[in-house]
Amino acid sequence: MTGVLIRGCKVAGRTFGSVYCEGGKVAKISQAETQVVPSGTEVVDANGGALFIGFADTHCHPFEYGWLKRSIDLRGTTNSAGIRLRLQGGIRRARPGEWVTGRGWDQEAMAGGAMPNRADIDDLSPSNPVALSRVCGHMALLNSRAIVELGLEGRTGDEYERDQTGSLTGIVKERALTEVFDRIPRSSERSAADLQSVEAEAARLGLTAMHCIVSPEGFREELGALASLDAAGSLSLRYRVYVPPEALDFAEEGRFRERLTGGMVRLNGMKIYGDGSLGARTAALRQPYSDAPSNSGMLRHSDEELAGLVEKADAKGYQVIVHAIGDRAVEQAAEALGRVAGSRNPRRHRIEHASLLPRDIRSKMARHGIRVAVQPLFVTSDTWALARLGEERVRDLYPFRSMLEDGIVASGGSDCPVESPSPILGMWAAMTRGGSTPEECLNLSQALSLYTSNAAANGSDDPVLEEGVGASLTVIDSDPEGMHPALFRKVGVLATIVNGNVVHSFGSA
Ligand SMILES: [Zn+2]
Repeated sequence: MTGVLIRGCKVAGRTFGSVYCEGGKVAKISQAETQVVPSGTEVVDANGGALFIGFADTHCHPFEYGWLKRSIDLRGTTNSAGIRLRLQGGIRRARPGEWVTGRGWDQEAMAGGAMPNRADIDDLSPSNPVALSRVCGHMALLNSRAIVELGLEGRTGDEYERDQTGSLTGIVKERALTEVFDRIPRSSERSAADLQSVEAEAARLGLTAMHCIVSPEGFREELGALASLDAAGSLSLRYRVYVPPEALDFAEEGRFRERLTGGMVRLNGMKIYGDGSLGARTAALRQPYSDAPSNSGMLRHSDEELAGLVEKADAKGYQVIVHAIGDRAVEQAAEALGRVAGSRNPRRHRIEHASLLPRDIRSKMARHGIRVAVQPLFVTSDTWALARLGEERVRDLYPFRSMLEDGIVASGGSDCPVESPSPILGMWAAMTRGGSTPEECLNLSQALSLYTSNAAANGSDDPVLEEGVGASLTVIDSDPEGMHPALFRKVGVLATIVNGNVVHSFGSA
């Protein structure tokens, strides 16, 4: 393995200098612009840019994102001819018999507002089953091949739309749709290809690691893909993996804990869903929604159930991360995690999102050392937050600065594909917040810490840049010190280095 020299860069926000990496480690940090290095060393000219411990996204769903990237994008279609045209392209790329999926059609945007019908698409793909989701994700159009393959012909109920003659139109809704997508066959090869399409983009965005949430539907294939790509040495980023409770036994039996222990892929723990989302009013609140006074959302588990799941995983030595968005759910998660965390929280148990986080819950979390993974881009996307929560409560929504000041170790992420996986955009959102609750804006070093030191700490990686640590580094094209926060979104990524390998570089010598 050849060494890598990054020269002419500001190092970790301190002084200008150069960094030499060898054998996957940071070998020498120098205050000189450059260093004498062995011949054959790969050189990255930073030209006054800045180098940091590698950016990490501490909450993302790369397999889901990969699937979406290969699904046909039907947004903006205004008639069935438009849907047919894009579907044709997707079918051409598919192998015979392979499922073709798409998303984004909207009958409201079509002339006459009529629902599409399987007859509109059947002739295009007699040998490929097709499932096209409506823009909302609660309805889909299937072709006849899909209906036959899934054996849906005899199904009754409102979820399966029928025409006047009583035959299925191809439109399925709600629970039927979940069933369809659960039954679309998956393969480790397909999951591997999905992951690799995402990691190329992630490396360009400066990510050196992803905290990868494995899905309840596809954990067998996804863990299989991670293990085989790792064994073949074909991964370029590091993955810290979290499995759903239903996958825990499978992961143990498949010995994934032993198979996924390397520098590139590590099975870190278990992810539990505590509640839903504010957008859908399913996040569990202590007080009802301001725009739905009879609704307080819903918890996914009773207090005892959640505590039981947490204890089981903790006893096996796993880090537990709990999705909790409403204050009631965050409180419940803090209680369950606090019980096993003591005051030091040695397993780094964490709450994902922790969106509505009033002071009393923050104090409880700080007392137990419970960590948080936040998604700064949610702040700029949740345009309905004030309506859902009202003036008073909205001040406790995404209180990033208060969390850090209370001593909570908060790390950043995207929840990709919900938001863009760009850590630069995440930091920009954490510093600017689109103008909402400006007292919670982070300064530059706090915003950086979300994706560097705190992200590493929250995933059990090296949190400080010094000689001897793993050489996973991100180099950006400018020194952000003193830059106006609004300009930060324009910052580019010069190079991404993972375990001493340059996995992305812009103009390396
Ligand atoms: Zn998520």
